[in-house]
Amino acid sequence: MNTQFFAAWIQEIASAVRAQRDHLTQLDAAIGDADHGANLDRGFAAAGEALAGASPQTPGALLVLVGSTLIRKVGGASGPLYGTAFREMGKLLGDTAEVSPGRLADALNAALSGVQRLGAAAEGDKTMVDALAPAVRALARAVQEGLKTEEALDAAAAAAEEGAKATIPLQARKGRASYLGPRSVGHEDPGAASTALILGALRAAGS
Ligand code: ADP
Ligand code: MG
Ligand code: MG
Repeated sequence: MNTQFFAAWIQEIASAVRAQRDHLTQLDAAIGDADHGANLDRGFAAAGEALAGASPQTPGALLVLVGSTLIRKVGGASGPLYGTAFREMGKLLGDTAEVSPGRLADALNAALSGVQRLGAAAEGDKTMVDALAPAVRALARAVQEGLKTEEALDAAAAAAEEGAKATIPLQARKGRASYLGPRSVGHEDPGAASTALILGALRAAGS
């Protein structure tokens, strides 16, 4: 996976977020403040523009630029969290030109660590961590089992999707939704849903 692959990933995310903008906003309307779709749409559109303007030459530089743009443009809880996730991925990749699936798994693990360092959410707290953590594990397992890149990305996307759906019965313990207490039960977490979109876009970028 080269710089072009990661540029395609960001484009795929921007399209998916644009298409699902209202859905993400509805999820956030139920247990938050109804801005998650708009926040991410603004952020990933800006990230696409930043990439077009700067033409970063390595996957690492590209992901750091995306992360910095998200931090500047998204705001709220998810801006710094997703911004950190992309920056940590980029920093881990350094100046590698061709990223193996194993290295991508390491980068996503660094993203997860960054999110947890900043937001202090554990799995089960009903946040984006509930989609990201199982995706990282699924990708690492797929790499260990020697699956092809596309199959490994499929496994990661499926695990993220499953993790997002599994937030429905949970009570939120972090973020705005936690203010609702037991009333947060019965709704999918918007950040977990957007993380599933982001991982699904990774699969789309590879084909
Ligand atoms: P805000 O809540 O500030 O309006 P968004 O609506 O853009 O921000 O994002 C909300 C999402 O951010 C939540 O659905 C959740 O997944 C994620 N989130 C909030 N707080 C945390 C946290 N401490 N750790 C991980 N994710 C979090
Ligand atoms: Mg919100
Ligand atoms: Mg908000």
